[in-house]
Amino acid sequence: MSTPALPQSADQILAALDPEQREVAANPSGPMCVLAGAGTGKTRAITHRIAYGVHSGAYVPPRVLAVTFTARAAGEMRTRLRDLGVAGVQARTFHSAALRQLHYFWPQAIGGAAPEILGHKAPAVGEAAARVGMRLDRSELRDVAAEIEWSKVSLLTPETYPEAARAARREPPGMDPTAMARLISTYEDVKGERGVIDFEDVLLLTVGILEEREDIAATVRSQYRHFVVDEYQDVNALQQRLLDLWLGGRGDICVVGDPAQTIYSFTGATPEHLLRFGRTHPGAETVRLVRNYRSTPAVLGLANRLLTDPSGGRRHGSVELVAQREGDSSASRPRLTALDDDPAEAAWVAERIGELVEQGRPLREIAVLFRTNGQSEGFESALTDAGIPYLVRGGERFFSRKEVREAVLLLRGAARTDDGSKPLPALVEDVLGGMGWQPEAPAGSGAVRARWESLKALVDLAGRLAANHPQARLPELVGELDERAAAQHAPDVEGVTLASLHAAKGLEWDVVFLAGCSDGLLPIVMAEGAEEIEEERRLMYVGVTRARDVLHLSWSRARTPGARASRRVSRFLDQTSGILGEGARSQPKGSRSRSRGRLKGARPRSCKGCGSELVTAAERASGRCANCPPGYDEATFERLRAWRLAVSRAASVPAFVVFTDATLEAIAEAEPGGQRELSAISGVGPRKLSLYADQVLAVVAGADPDEVVRSASGDPEA
Ligand code: ATP
Ligand code: MG
Repeated sequence: MSTPALPQSADQILAALDPEQREVAANPSGPMCVLAGAGTGKTRAITHRIAYGVHSGAYVPPRVLAVTFTARAAGEMRTRLRDLGVAGVQARTFHSAALRQLHYFWPQAIGGAAPEILGHKAPAVGEAAARVGMRLDRSELRDVAAEIEWSKVSLLTPETYPEAARAARREPPGMDPTAMARLISTYEDVKGERGVIDFEDVLLLTVGILEEREDIAATVRSQYRHFVVDEYQDVNALQQRLLDLWLGGRGDICVVGDPAQTIYSFTGATPEHLLRFGRTHPGAETVRLVRNYRSTPAVLGLANRLLTDPSGGRRHGSVELVAQREGDSSASRPRLTALDDDPAEAAWVAERIGELVEQGRPLREIAVLFRTNGQSEGFESALTDAGIPYLVRGGERFFSRKEVREAVLLLRGAARTDDGSKPLPALVEDVLGGMGWQPEAPAGSGAVRARWESLKALVDLAGRLAANHPQARLPELVGELDERAAAQHAPDVEGVTLASLHAAKGLEWDVVFLAGCSDGLLPIVMAEGAEEIEEERRLMYVGVTRARDVLHLSWSRARTPGARASRRVSRFLDQTSGILGEGARSQPKGSRSRSRGRLKGARPRSCKGCGSELVTAAERASGRCANCPPGYDEATFERLRAWRLAVSRAASVPAFVVFTDATLEAIAEAEPGGQRELSAISGVGPRKLSLYADQVLAVVAGADPDEVVRSASGDPEA
């Protein structure tokens, strides 16, 4: 899968693409929109578009601005472009591109130096809250900061926030939208008094300058003529505004994205800009890619299944991905493993990784992905115990590691006396030698090895810098390190990648462990309502589609050892039991005797989900506390209802004559696997059994309800 070394001609660049990708690359001017699924080569197509543009003479490299989602993705894009023989193209995040322009134009537009950027909002939010007489705890501070971010990227002001927040059904933490607006306005005051700006201000101020200063806008527009934007499904209103200003009505833009991978809606992003692109850019060409080059057919089978709805349709407008790779589906089948508790799950993952390493799988080709950053710690300690080096993506941790801070300090000191007499990499090795670092990797335990790998990453970075910029010396290396630290762009460290699903987007590994596949973690417990749950489903889809060869899903029944096994497997896996086995059912068949007892017996007093005491009558009727999801799989229930509707229509009888709601719920909860189990459910007598047993069992097993009814009625179309 490696890119051929430095293609010389524009034709060679096109030769590495399939026909649709070539369409993207070979037409490097004019508005273009690439709407495509995971791993279909979107990022590849746009890097080749840039390379083709440069090699064919259509582009001058410094006139190209490629916008990507993370600093790491921007770095990756620069590497890919270099491999295609292209240097000098700007590949940046919206934030880093804006920051650069802000610094450059601030003296001219405002005067003096650009203000300092707040590292964290929490202290300023805390002060603002105190001023308006609110006491917020740590998690509320974080939620308020996130709400402020949503408001700013949605281009709202304290005046327009309340109405927009209500319309978007936002729930500011513990306060109404009007109070939140007051807090936002006070927060802005606090920042102003301190003379600092925040992360969103970088874009807002750049937008302000470009809107007000025609001369500066003209300078920026003559600098950048050609634009590409990756991961465009997750663009927010503020970023879109900035992009519009950069373009200034010109049409030389190519956007690529996958609506099914929209995972930042809660922060204010929306796939609407991607979906509307054809309408907002007259004459735009739309290209669709469906061939997936990344994953084995078995991994794709699961990915496709995740986005199939119970009636067989596609969710989120996704198209079924078509595997281009060969592979024995049974050998590389994704597997689901249930463990007793979180530490056991982490230990299990570490043990499997240990085996992979023994089989010769490189560490950098393995990733452990999870829903929240908080889950990282358990895996970090399990890997440390197993002596396996790792790096954490999407955290600032690389640059806050003790050895890295120490090394940067030493390099900074040495930069002052760098007389250029030694090659840069050798000089860096010397400096780090002062910390006891040696080119030879140490044998053995985790911490020592991890320290060595961090420093090795700095040496490698120096090597790459020297190779690309032969004049670069220590001051340039220190500058690069500072820039990376600010952008949280850790260099490649040899180690297993630990990453949240959000941080994993756009990336790929040979082996992926998708951990914490249980309800409450994925979907996360805070997700409420269909839209938020669907975003969680897309997150799982992003996770699954990161794997090239091997995919392990896992979950644990309890959080801590010895605790009650109250968790259940993720509801998103409900329709995957055909691939992952019975363990993928969130309501295992084995549980039906218990549930039957409950259905027939007195109303339960404790929640069947978590065991807590049931307080209200409604809770006792359903047998679940307000926090626990229903006992039956909603998808199964909906399928049963659709089946009942079809049957009742065909027989021209009211639906309840077929089965009552209560019986359907009981069937959905019990998920009977055969006639005997079905007959044990109240409301299923001998007559109903002889009429409907086969159909009901087929629907429970996942069959399409309409088809079941059609084939039962002998319709030849079935
Ligand atoms: P994502 O949706 O995850 O961002 P993507 O659509 O951007 O994925 P890429 O990362 O560009 O996909 O490509 C996925 C993998 O498939 C990469 O390893 C890439 O090199 C490979 N690939 C893409 N197109 C081709 C091709 N035409 N021939 C060979 N390999 C390809
Ligand atoms: Mg991509």
